[in-house]
Amino acid sequence: MRVGILGGGQLGRMLALEGIPLGHRFAILEPSPNPPAGGLGTVVAAAYDDMDGLARIAAAADVVTYEFENVPADSAAYLAARLPALPPPAALEVAQDRMAEKTMFRELGIPTAAFHPVDSVECLEAALAATGLPAVIKTRRLGYDGKGQAVVRTGAEAAAAVVRLGSGLIAERLVCFERELSVLAVAGRDGSRAFYPLTENHHRGGILSVSYAPAPGLTPVLQSEGEALAARVLDRFGYVGVLAIELFEAGGRLVANEIAPRVHNSGHWTLDGADTSQFENHIRAVTGMPLARPRVPGPAAMINLIGELPDLGALAGIPGAHLHLYDKAPRPGRKLGHVNVTGGDEAEVVGTVERVWALLPGEGELPRASGW
Ligand code: AMP
Repeated sequence: MRVGILGGGQLGRMLALEGIPLGHRFAILEPSPNPPAGGLGTVVAAAYDDMDGLARIAAAADVVTYEFENVPADSAAYLAARLPALPPPAALEVAQDRMAEKTMFRELGIPTAAFHPVDSVECLEAALAATGLPAVIKTRRLGYDGKGQAVVRTGAEAAAAVVRLGSGLIAERLVCFERELSVLAVAGRDGSRAFYPLTENHHRGGILSVSYAPAPGLTPVLQSEGEALAARVLDRFGYVGVLAIELFEAGGRLVANEIAPRVHNSGHWTLDGADTSQFENHIRAVTGMPLARPRVPGPAAMINLIGELPDLGALAGIPGAHLHLYDKAPRPGRKLGHVNVTGGDEAEVVGTVERVWALLPGEGELPRASGW
């Protein structure tokens, strides 16, 4: 099948890398030159709202999908009127706006932090009455990797944050969590579903740094709770494709933070740690192939390579370390690749993660798995 992807970054690249062996061909809409997915299909170099570019992608594909959620609503609607656009554009719309996202969680009975919209300093009092302090003030749209948000402990701090961040904000109660987790679900066109084990995620400076999977100490009860939350979101949209939900574990319960209607960085470990990756299952889902129920033979970890690359020869020499580079030029804060680590048991994985981490320039202390 001919698969169109909006976005030619690393997610588009890994979707194509996993989809080509299944017999699919790729057409990629990407405005920037030399994108990571560039060599893997036909590239349509145009902006995401360029009508001519959208028409060319629609003509070059039998189904279209996305590697990022901020696809302009009109572009998604244009494509959906011409060919299957999956996951459903309604899921993109919700994921683009933290108010819509949190409201959906509430409607679906999915626990989430108390929240309230904030449009000016004047309405801050009502918002903080709803959330309490400390709170997190975030932009409703276009925030990512911790950008466009502030933790505030007093009314004065909150007012300063609102002045700095502008209007179109949301206040959320600060969740005192034990750890951050994510659930990855995939839904097929035929309604079938599969889930990956919950993953434990560690961020540094707002960017995902290390993931451990299955999340250390993961119980069947917690896994079912995560799957049940994800299933409600899948139901809501008649969803097709991979869906990630970022979660907090607080007091042993799951609290939803946000959804990503796409393959997700916290699922990169599945390229080596599961027999079917999130990328392959996403392509299976959107092209109408049967989903593969992923088997996870042992523990795994994923370490992002951010800003600067380590000695790649040394890295490649570490048994159990699997290198994935994105063909991107180094730049501070930029995700250039990741290393997946697999091993026979947790101690082996941790030992290999330590060896990989020691090669990373200026990364500071390793974020450790809780309990391995
Ligand atoms: P987000 O942009 O919503 O993914 O937030 C980025 C990071 O900020 C999350 O991964 C958490 O570490 C932290 N964070 C966001 N919202 C909250 C919250 N309500 N309570 C506690 N921490 C939060």
